[in-house]
Amino acid sequence: MARKCTHPVGYIPPTVVHAKDWNKKLAQFVEKVFDFNIRGQRDQINHPGFITEFTFCPECGTPIDRAGLLTYPEAFDLHKAGLSKS
Ligand SMILES: [Zn+2]
Repeated sequence: MARKCTHPVGYIPPTVVHAKDWNKKLAQFVEKVFDFNIRGQRDQINHPGFITEFTFCPECGTPIDRAGLLTYPEAFDLHKAGLSKS
């Protein structure tokens, strides 16, 4: 019998991420991108990289149910909304 797969739902640099951590890690990543977009124009900071949202589990091939998981544009909009409030 195959070992139980934990189904990572995506990649957010530098690691694969599971459903329970996705929204939090994505929000943190979006924050880094915002910081890069602002400071990166004058400071030498590394580009934060790119995320991947898995459609299928890369380990076992099961389709990933993304219900409740934010997309990158959604997280981006949420972050912007937060910024404009303060
Ligand atoms: Zn899996």
